[in-house]
Amino acid sequence: MRQVAIYGKGGIGKSTTTQNLTAALAYRMNKKIMVVGCDPKADSTRMLLGGLQQKTTLDTLREEGEDVELDSILLEGFHGIKCVESGGPEPGVGCAGRGIITSIGLLEQLGAYTDDLDYVFYDVLGDVVCGGFAMPIREGKAKEIYIVASGELMAIYAANNICKGIQKYANSGGVRLGGIICNSRNVDRERDLIEAFAKALGSQMIFFVPRDNIVQRAEINKKTVTEFEPESTQGLAYKSLAEAVEHNELFVIPKPLPIPELEKLMSDYGLMDI
Ligand code: ATP
Ligand code: MG
Repeated sequence: MRQVAIYGKGGIGKSTTTQNLTAALAYRMNKKIMVVGCDPKADSTRMLLGGLQQKTTLDTLREEGEDVELDSILLEGFHGIKCVESGGPEPGVGCAGRGIITSIGLLEQLGAYTDDLDYVFYDVLGDVVCGGFAMPIREGKAKEIYIVASGELMAIYAANNICKGIQKYANSGGVRLGGIICNSRNVDRERDLIEAFAKALGSQMIFFVPRDNIVQRAEINKKTVTEFEPESTQGLAYKSLAEAVEHNELFVIPKPLPIPELEKLMSDYGLMDI
């Protein structure tokens, strides 16, 4: 069982990429997958569930008490993908990280981590290095991380910061970076920039996902692109992403760049002029 966490700047496309990637792994390769949403927004599995906003683990616990059945927090979605939303504290109160620990603990206790699973994916909250940030890796769950980034300055800064977090836990636990997924924002020389950035980290750009409005069209239809139009260009891109992840062999402790080096990289690729 490979346990994978997806990180990246807020709004970069973590949830979209996680759902399209897992849909492709299930649909193209028959992989058995569980997706655990670790974001209080609880929007990590909606497109896998045909638009259903499933009740979160924490809300279920609050409403039904400790006697929770697995069925009430885990729903099967597209191609049998098992979907869980951890949920979070009421906005402004409490700690998001604790909610994730509670949710993961309950999943374990209820036997959700079955041996037949090929993958468990954690769609992790934003880029803030607090609260929920490190939970799936701190709990010794996810050993494999992908960072979603684009050629935009803040996305790269965030990715670099996330690498600092990974580095910290890589030394104590076994967590490794599997690569950067470039989720394109159509920035000039984006592919070259992300490739150079990933290489400087000691890692790789594992895949370049094009930006395409079919993602929005699929979303409006409450589906992943894989379900909506599997043979479209974007559908085939997610298929290739799934293959790249499935066959990935490069797992490293990333070396985050000092800010001057990061800025040099940006200026080498022309971004600082903008
Ligand atoms: P948050 O940090 O808030 O959880 P996120 O990183 O999970 O955000 P998403 O919600 O997945 O980001 O994506 C934000 C928006 O970007 C979505 O509405 C989605 O439609 C759009 N999007 C993501 N990837 C692509 C793409 N490759 N092409 C077109 N649109 C995309
Ligand atoms: Mg998200």
